[in-house]
Amino acid sequence: MLLNQYRIQPVSSTGTKLHLTRIAPTPSGFLHLGNILSFAITYALAKKHQAKILLRIDDLDQNRIKAPYVEDMFDTLAFMGFTWHYGPKNIEDYHASFSQIHRMPLYQKALDHLTAKSAVYACQCSRKDIAQASPDGRYPGTCREKAIDLHKNRVNWRLKTHDTPICMRLESGRVISELPALMEDFIIRKKDTAPAYQLASVVDDIHFGVDLIVRGNDLVNSSWAQLFLAGLLPENTFSKSTFYHHPLIMEDREHKLSKSAGSTSIHGLRKIGKTKAEIYQQLGAFMGFDTSISSLQEFERAYNQKGLP
Ligand SMILES: [Zn+2]
Repeated sequence: MLLNQYRIQPVSSTGTKLHLTRIAPTPSGFLHLGNILSFAITYALAKKHQAKILLRIDDLDQNRIKAPYVEDMFDTLAFMGFTWHYGPKNIEDYHASFSQIHRMPLYQKALDHLTAKSAVYACQCSRKDIAQASPDGRYPGTCREKAIDLHKNRVNWRLKTHDTPICMRLESGRVISELPALMEDFIIRKKDTAPAYQLASVVDDIHFGVDLIVRGNDLVNSSWAQLFLAGLLPENTFSKSTFYHHPLIMEDREHKLSKSAGSTSIHGLRKIGKTKAEIYQQLGAFMGFDTSISSLQEFERAYNQKGLP
């Protein structure tokens, strides 16, 4: 076990337990305005709730992770004025201790736990099979009763979900819902045997003790899925987390900003001479702040003054 393999339990100088939140970039592209907005909102809410901040780098999808993006991530975070309390301080530290690769035994332990509970089945459907059987994108349960060998090559592992009320804590109170239809029997291990995002994310959050989860509106379904999954795991502290889902900067009405949208990468903006202050001004304008802002600290202040979200 590496040094980072512990639950972080931040306390204030007077000994009260503090919240822990995290930013979780994936270095599979240059960080863009949408990422920076999400981080800035996370920092504003961390300030509001006196939470400490963890940098978690989501790098399980090793084929998509590239060294220049890792470099860009550290560089852009520094340029935009982000610092954090826990997690890798630099690229060497990330590789040596904080890559998700080091936490593979934890993901495996969770998968073992779920398979021992018979909560998992193998699915050999392709995306095309699913799209043909189910135009709305929801998994039609094709393989649920097929008892396909879990260790067969090229199968996804799906969680056997069922209708049960799930509780999500928001700042404004609790919301109870069933799992969204699109998340029924969601995938927890991929065909290449790597843990799926939903599993790795929730295992990491439980492991580190994250209890303030800030993410974009596009991940609301994931939050419900992760709450369902957390309910099946031992030492589940995740269900007590407070969730915030924030608005996204959109490319157009239907598409959120993507990593391929080079024009909005911070790297690209800097190349054409944009300063940090100008980038924060742009984010402030998107948020509809009354005053012009030019730094992370001013973003945090303006966000919290506005009483968002
Ligand atoms: Zn299937």
